[in-house]
Amino acid sequence: MPLVDMGKREHLSYKAVCPGCGEDTLAVEELYDEIPGLGMAVLVSMFCPKCGVRAYHEIPLESRGIKKIEFRVSGGKDLSARVIRSPSGKILIPELGLELSPGSRPVGFVTNVEGVLQRFLEVAEQLAGIAEGPKKEEAELAVKRIKSAMGGSLPFTIIIEDDLGNSAIIPPE
Ligand SMILES: [Zn+2]
Repeated sequence: MPLVDMGKREHLSYKAVCPGCGEDTLAVEELYDEIPGLGMAVLVSMFCPKCGVRAYHEIPLESRGIKKIEFRVSGGKDLSARVIRSPSGKILIPELGLELSPGSRPVGFVTNVEGVLQRFLEVAEQLAGIAEGPKKEEAELAVKRIKSAMGGSLPFTIIIEDDLGNSAIIPPE
């Protein structure tokens, strides 16, 4: 049983390594929601069915109401910063010429900076595989630059523009 009722609200579930038993069995649920008295927050609920480890955190987001968030990524540690992109958020990485718009069927997601780069990389690799001529070269260059950024050798700025102010970037502790 999850500790909070996730209902139909936007959330993310994944498995992680359990701090208790070291097995890959920790079920993690993250929910991005408005909490009375706390404002916008990320609720993180963890449970390991193997050893019984259980934890629950509420992480308030101070960036409530801000429409443009900028985060400088200059080292490997910055790649683990949490990225919360609400359905109205647009992600930009000017140095890499990358842009992810809400689109016609907007969805929100919770990931980290590396996860955002991974999404861009998959698109660029697909494009490099099917495009021809200058477009192919452009896509291949994008693949190289995204890989450099993921390896920490190319500093960049990640920007989220959000008309509703519900997106956030949480730096690693
Ligand atoms: Zn465990």
